[in-house]
Amino acid sequence: MSQNKDLYSSPYYKEPGPPLDKESPFESMMERFRFAAKILELDEGMFQYLSNPVKSVTVSIPIIMDNGNIRVFEGYRVIHDNVLGPSKGGLRYTPNVTIEEVKALAAWMTWKCAVVNVPFGGAKGAVRCNPKELSLRELEQITRRYTAEMIEVIGPDRDIPAPDMNTNEQIMAWIMDTYSMHSRRTDNAVVTGKPIILGGSKGRKEATGRGVVTVTLEALNKLGIMANKCRVVIQGFGNVGSVTARLLYERGARIVGISDVTGGYYHPDGIDIDQALLHVQESGGTLYGFQGAEKITNEELLELDCDVLIPAALQDQINKLNARNIKARAIIEGANGPITANADTILDDMGILIIPDILANAGGVTVSYFEWVQDRHGYFWTEDRVNRRLNRMMRDAFQLLYEVKEKHSITLRQAAYVYAIQKVSDTLRIRGIYA
Ligand code: GLU
Repeated sequence: MSQNKDLYSSPYYKEPGPPLDKESPFESMMERFRFAAKILELDEGMFQYLSNPVKSVTVSIPIIMDNGNIRVFEGYRVIHDNVLGPSKGGLRYTPNVTIEEVKALAAWMTWKCAVVNVPFGGAKGAVRCNPKELSLRELEQITRRYTAEMIEVIGPDRDIPAPDMNTNEQIMAWIMDTYSMHSRRTDNAVVTGKPIILGGSKGRKEATGRGVVTVTLEALNKLGIMANKCRVVIQGFGNVGSVTARLLYERGARIVGISDVTGGYYHPDGIDIDQALLHVQESGGTLYGFQGAEKITNEELLELDCDVLIPAALQDQINKLNARNIKARAIIEGANGPITANADTILDDMGILIIPDILANAGGVTVSYFEWVQDRHGYFWTEDRVNRRLNRMMRDAFQLLYEVKEKHSITLRQAAYVYAIQKVSDTLRIRGIYA
């Protein structure tokens, strides 16, 4: 068994399953992009510019494994654009990742940063590997060699990675150290999501969940539902799902369903989230064996009767096969791409309010921006300041997109794309094309 089994045997570890309907994430993204481009009457040249990443890099990562053999992994970094500023986006370690998926995720980051008004372009990175099968030493070698191969791509003013699926603050620390060894100075602004002791930001770990809660409360307000009367189902009990559950529970919401890799857990009167968190802590990272709820399947969980459904686990979870069975009044996309474009249309017809991922989970990149600012100033904020500014930025973004939605009579997702594409294309027009 590998030395880092604790990290990857927990619900934080996610392995993407096969896509449930036939759409690729890139097609899903492009479908939404095309719709917004039409509303904005984007000209053909601008359309082409924004549908192609400015840079896609593939590298080989040779590693001497613990058994003495050499193994070569493949690594990617895609910069979708750097119009608004240096590009920003996570780095994921997953066994089935493809460059197409990374391209879609990089474009999503462009729209996400534009939506919450942080001055970054969009990027994403990945290494095709299964961290569950790697020792801590092998994982460190992969990370350091990946960083060295990307030394001209990343940088505090160029492109700034962050944690994503199956990567964490230790991996960010290795990236920062490797980059700093090459530049011969401490460059902590080269990555975000670092340990606090290395220049990480207070509140970064909780930021995505906290942002999800801020927009959930805004959505409830629009629907005229009181937080303490609201029934919530959350898919995923990792970093995003568990923080979201705890903060909503503290506000008096009834969390009727939660889930992780071990399945779904349901209680019509509401689950005691403190108990669930304690169980996870004491049982080595999963909800397995949790007694405070009835055991159900992950499929049943999504179809529970509730006011708010928060998919905070994997992509493509709500698709054309199960969309018609959803009973929630609002869906808040804690994960990236949990609803396929096909399912979107069905859910819109059913009158369900969807808070799209590029708004709902943007709390993470917002506090990444705060971390980058703090690193560059060498002056660190209190957690209270981080949280207040995060809440304000998420609330402002929600209100702004809601106005765009009302103005064009479109969905909030379409509004998010319209706003983001308009912002990036306006900026690009002013900057002009360098030849
Ligand atoms: N991986 C996160 C996301 O998908 C965070 C990215 C960042 O902080 O740069 O939004």
